[in-house]
Amino acid sequence: MVDIVEIIDQHMQTRKIMVCKNFRDENYDLVNDDYRATIPVLDQSGNSLQPPLEVRIVCPVGISELKFHISLLVITGAKRNDRKSICRLDFGANEGHRFNPSAPPPEGWDWSRFPTREIHGSHIHPWQLNRHLASGRKLPKNLHFAEAIEAAGWDDAFDAFCEINLITYDRRPHCRRGLL
Ligand SMILES: [Zn+2]
Repeated sequence: MVDIVEIIDQHMQTRKIMVCKNFRDENYDLVNDDYRATIPVLDQSGNSLQPPLEVRIVCPVGISELKFHISLLVITGAKRNDRKSICRLDFGANEGHRFNPSAPPPEGWDWSRFPTREIHGSHIHPWQLNRHLASGRKLPKNLHFAEAIEAAGWDDAFDAFCEINLITYDRRPHCRRGLL
């Protein structure tokens, strides 16, 4: 049986592309109180990766400040919910998270005892800081670890997300502001 964590490691070390040139407002669906859009992430020849990856953009509706989430998801099965987040950027988020200063945690660690501090404001949960939460062949249920990002807005944040995940794009998709 193939180790999914190893495959994700390989995916993350490979340069990938997103084709966004036809991305429009219509790509966003209103789901509960969020605008959501997904864009496939392909290998450099434009072929699907195995298992496939996609980027999901989530923009909450009805708030005045700029706030959004960008996730890199791996599609693990045929059902709609068979998707696991392997990296997420939370922009303008006010939830607290554990902050991992630099080194990945040691083998057999208990993350709840790991020396951490809370992080607030815009931040990213990179695969590298969270892959150790995978158990056996199961991907992490939650990406507990994050680091702060300096990003002035959508363009900066989107570029930071793409850079850390080795994704290039033909045209930056837009953030759908959910102002009511
Ligand atoms: Zn977060």
